[in-house]
Amino acid sequence: MSVERVPFKDAVLDKDKFSVTWELVPGRGSHEKDQDAVALCAKAAVKDPRINAITLTDNPSGTPAIHPAGLSKEVEDLGIDALIHFTCKDKNRNEIESELYALDRVGLKNLLVMTGDYVTAGYNGRPKPVFDVDSVQAVRMIEKLNAGLEVPMRGKLKKFPETDFFAGAVVSPFKSLEAETMAQYAKLHQKVAAGAKYIITQVGWDARKFDELRKYVDKFELNVPIIGNIYILTLGVAKMMNRGVIPGAVVTDEFLKDLEAEKKEFENNKERQLLRAAKLFAVLKGIGYDGVTIAGHGIKYEDIKFILDKGEEFAPNWQALVKEFDYPEQNGFYFFEKDEKTGLNTTTPVDRSKTGEKSTSLFYWSFSMVHKLALSEQAPLYPMIKWFAKKIDKSALKKPFTYAEYYTKTLTNECKFCGDCVMHELAFQCPMSQCAKHQRNGACGGGKDGWCEVYPGEKRCIYVNMYEKLKHDGKEYIMNNRYAPPADWNLYQTSSWLNFFNERDYNHRNDD
Ligand code: SF4
Repeated sequence: MSVERVPFKDAVLDKDKFSVTWELVPGRGSHEKDQDAVALCAKAAVKDPRINAITLTDNPSGTPAIHPAGLSKEVEDLGIDALIHFTCKDKNRNEIESELYALDRVGLKNLLVMTGDYVTAGYNGRPKPVFDVDSVQAVRMIEKLNAGLEVPMRGKLKKFPETDFFAGAVVSPFKSLEAETMAQYAKLHQKVAAGAKYIITQVGWDARKFDELRKYVDKFELNVPIIGNIYILTLGVAKMMNRGVIPGAVVTDEFLKDLEAEKKEFENNKERQLLRAAKLFAVLKGIGYDGVTIAGHGIKYEDIKFILDKGEEFAPNWQALVKEFDYPEQNGFYFFEKDEKTGLNTTTPVDRSKTGEKSTSLFYWSFSMVHKLALSEQAPLYPMIKWFAKKIDKSALKKPFTYAEYYTKTLTNECKFCGDCVMHELAFQCPMSQCAKHQRNGACGGGKDGWCEVYPGEKRCIYVNMYEKLKHDGKEYIMNNRYAPPADWNLYQTSSWLNFFNERDYNHRNDD
């Protein structure tokens, strides 16, 4: 082929181009056959300039595997960009910074930033889940590094050389409840505000949901390229997705039934899987996506080629294929009214006063009142309490006061004593104890039907609760415009109230 490959970044940012990446999953071990397979796939992909990058996952499903950077350099040396999945689950902020310098040093610039699946198994048992920084904070940190990180050193600000990362983030429109969907979109606003340069979707087979995200991004002028996820689906993986075993990926009961019927009907099931992927390629292109990422287990270059060739062939008639991706969640929420003619969406948002849940509680109401009266800079009692807090901070009462706060919050929220409390922003739920991934800036992508990814059927996602509480008060829009920095562990086991009034907490740390 005579066309030249466009680098991933240019393909994503150029509105006239449709980017294509191929996702590969490195395995455990440094010289296992999975690793050799990645190198072989990359070698084959180099021949096809339509493929802009090879995407490498980072310990998916929370199990250990070789770090994607280890293979990314090999991939780039073959002559094709690597796109590294950059997760926050196993690293604290210093390790993240350190890893970023290492990547920059060897010229690996393309990152897909995500919180990451909850850690599951590792050497000698389940590892400690770190989640020191969430995806919004990580994207923001990368922006700071790109601008030249400024760090106070020996009484002066030292500016480090600028890095040149091209970082994007993930969103999942494939959520059933209004609260989950809106929490995803709120985090999308936060990710874009933090500096995400492109957005990749989670995995799903609902064209109306893909279209919803396109129209949502346009409606709110988020001005960010969006890339659709195409997974080449086998029946085995579909069953796992249907059971919720693969966080964030959605296969509805109806879709699974159709896949089972298809397996019985067609001898060449692989071809059906590839055709489905090619049709989704055409639909995503038609809807107005800026690119696709293609993934699947044991996929060869010939499969990718088939999808790209067929996808282009199908593209002119993409509207006719929309009905093949009509798998809504049961009573699932959509942000826009349905367009009955196309099977997609109009640009009119549904009337959310008539959809979803709202909730409140005496606990929420009481904490809100206390906060309104005393615990914000606009509160009427703020000047007086600040005066007392300054006195207490320097007196023998500091310790009893600290423990009084700790025990109160332990009773209500199983307080983890971080000393940098953000629960008043999250409808009085503590992300350090109530969210398994300690998310301070919004829902991860793994929750399902309102339940937490880590405790399905046991614990509701705190951001679902938060949306419903804020909606009750008509303030759910607040979620779109928040940013909470990571907790400062200098404040561990101190009073967050004293820290607030004495201007030591996150509200008073300069993070601009
Ligand atoms: S509470 Fe929500 S954000 Fe936290 S881990 Fe569970 S699903 Fe993810």
